Amino acid sequence: MNVNDVKATAKEHGQLQEKLWEISQTEQSTVLPDAASLTRARASLPQSLDRNGIGYAETRRHVLEDLVPAFNKSSISPLYYGFVTGGITPAALFADGIVSAYDQNVQVHLTEHTIATDVEYTTLGLLVDLLQLGCEWHNGTFTTGATASNILGLACGREYILRTALERKGVSFVKSAGESGLFETMQAAGLAGLQILSTMPHSSLVKSAGILGFGRANVKDVSINGDPLRFDLDLVESELRTSNKATIVAVSCGEVNTGYFATGGLGDMQALRKLCDQYAAWLHVDGAFGIFARLLSDDPQYNAVKKGCEGIELADSIAGDGHKMLNVPYDCGFFLCRHKNEAFDVFQNANAAYLTGNSAASIPSPLNIGLENSRRFRALPVYASLVAYGSTGYQAMVQEQIRLARMIAGWLFDHPKYNALPEVTSKEALVERVYTIVLFSAKDEELNRQLAAKVDATLRIFVSGTSWQGRPACRLAISNWRVQADKDFPVVKEILDSVAEGA
Ligand SMILES: *Cc1c(COP(=O)(O)O)cnc(C)c1O
Repeated sequence: MNVNDVKATAKEHGQLQEKLWEISQTEQSTVLPDAASLTRARASLPQSLDRNGIGYAETRRHVLEDLVPAFNKSSISPLYYGFVTGGITPAALFADGIVSAYDQNVQVHLTEHTIATDVEYTTLGLLVDLLQLGCEWHNGTFTTGATASNILGLACGREYILRTALERKGVSFVKSAGESGLFETMQAAGLAGLQILSTMPHSSLVKSAGILGFGRANVKDVSINGDPLRFDLDLVESELRTSNKATIVAVSCGEVNTGYFATGGLGDMQALRKLCDQYAAWLHVDGAFGIFARLLSDDPQYNAVKKGCEGIELADSIAGDGHKMLNVPYDCGFFLCRHKNEAFDVFQNANAAYLTGNSAASIPSPLNIGLENSRRFRALPVYASLVAYGSTGYQAMVQEQIRLARMIAGWLFDHPKYNALPEVTSKEALVERVYTIVLFSAKDEELNRQLAAKVDATLRIFVSGTSWQGRPACRLAISNWRVQADKDFPVVKEILDSVAEGA
């Protein structure tokens, strides 16, 4: 490839960006690819590497004509309700193109070389503003998603609880897990292990426990009998008091099946904070998508949901997702921590003199506070989107998503063939707790077994299958900035009605 090729490619790339933007703006009639497109795309994949390459022009044709038709429209259609996928705001899409074109490596804070680390740090501050957390939360980093953010939170927590255990025992010959390793630290502290106390934690939290040496089996359920999401504070207290394991308490701020919250107001978070302080435990919040309930207005219709996010500022660390409710492209998450130096103690990239930034700088080098050394400039799409739409713009997005979720939930409650879940006695009681996720099942057993498959086979909307209290169920998660409740609701109704009729 010569320089002229590169120039021509760059020009074409500009035109292509315009074209892709147009494609992404076109109304989509389906959200999943049809079987023929998938078959065609699979057949087009090469068996081995072509020695000389097929060239840019043919590659471009191949990607656009063979592969793209076999993609789902999870981000570019508002009618995709699987998982929690979000979309991409126009400002975020624009900025993501810049990220690829300029390919900044956000690694070391080098003030004379690039503004990238300044932008990243500023973006964290804007996020803290958006989430109304207070300036002591302006520490953290951008990650690949909430899974990575949970790993960071548990790693920082592990460092803190072990160091505190050493201090309380008066041990000084071992410093920390990051320095001396888990095994020596635990022995010196006289601890039998590590544990996490939680209620309905996301699977990624359990995965993080496996990675970080807590062990998946040491994630303990401390819920109230009969309400698997609410903390039994007496049980938390007795675990902390009697266990010989150092502990992290993890709050599910938005449970994936129901969108419900593990805490129900400031009082719950204050009680957890008090227990964690008393027993030197760390308080982590997994707020991947739920934390955005903090953006809601004071309208009383949001009271129940907003309570689930109250007092989160009392935690020690928070995991959040960018590629869900913030509507920036994959992959993007954020990790916030109230303790300025904790991440450095774990993630410092020690002994690499050539990588030292300006040590007097107030902005830490990203490679010292997160998993990666080299990495993508993930903050720019977040920056662009926050600057473009502000907190009012994001508030309107979330509120419109809730409006649609509540229209659907209320309609399902009255439907002769569907159950709106969890089952409650009145429509008001159901609807006031609905955030952006609607859980439901079919009354008919036979239909219910195939419900998600039948809905998804229409290709026009997509819902995730799940299970609820031992029965299959469907989960409809709304998270796209393109949602327009009045336009989307009739489509959802039409499809669910026709599936119920056996069409
Ligand atoms: C989605 C989600 C995660 C995992 O996030 P990824 O972005 O997929 O890594 C963790 N916790 C909760 C509550 C989630 O909803």
